[in-house]
Amino acid sequence: MKRLIVANWKMNPQSPKDAERIFGGIRRTAVKLKKIETVICPPFVYLSLVGIVGNRVSDKRLSFSLGAQDLFWENPPAGKGSYTGEISAEMLKRFAVKYVIVGHSERRRHLGETNEIINRKIKTALKAGLRVIFCVGEKERNPNEDYLRFVKEEVIAGLKGIQRKFLGKLIVAYEPIWAIGKKGSAADAPEDILQMVLYIRRILLLVTDKDSARVMPILYGGSVVPKNAESFLRNAGIQGLLIGHESLIPKDFNEILRIAEKIKTK
Ligand code: PEP
Repeated sequence: MKRLIVANWKMNPQSPKDAERIFGGIRRTAVKLKKIETVICPPFVYLSLVGIVGNRVSDKRLSFSLGAQDLFWENPPAGKGSYTGEISAEMLKRFAVKYVIVGHSERRRHLGETNEIINRKIKTALKAGLRVIFCVGEKERNPNEDYLRFVKEEVIAGLKGIQRKFLGKLIVAYEPIWAIGKKGSAADAPEDILQMVLYIRRILLLVTDKDSARVMPILYGGSVVPKNAESFLRNAGIQGLLIGHESLIPKDFNEILRIAEKIKTK
């Protein structure tokens, strides 16, 4: 299986010109890679721009895909979309979107997204045929191990009632909130991530099935930079990375892509 390197642009950049520049800069490297699938998740307003630029080069190796940062928790039938400001799974699919991020900590924190809302979004996205990058992660790594309970609850509630036939389209992104946005200065340690990956797989065993618990891709996100990317990919038991800040800097992001390409997949 290819490694996934996901770019979460968040609410950036501010101009379409910059979006095209960043996208073009990443795509040139991404399409040449054989072992990596690069997923760009721009803000909704740039999906068509990025999608059109992306389609100019046919990508036979499927090394490059488009993702969205969110979706609405219902996929209403035509003419029933009275949800001001929201975007449906159906709309995303028509813009050639393959992946969608659900449950990012910034949406949990600033938009009040609960585990229940996230669970609805995951179900809606999967039913529509999208692949879901489901984010979980604790606020702090407190010594009494409360954080383990916190992550467990997020995983169990987020995946409640997901039909077995959809499990192959699920990806978990472990993103400890305390490590996000620190530009490399506060990333988690690979050994600790490995422990969390194994822990998440144990929880997956409770809510999915043996095969899914074993093979479901788990990504790490939180202050990944070229300097620490290799050690995460080699030692943390992960199948890819979710990258915020560095995904807006093509030079750095491409370096991470090249590092990921040269590491053997197990
Ligand atoms: C993120 O917000 O998903 C993220 C991983 O951000 P950063 O890489 O900037 O820590």
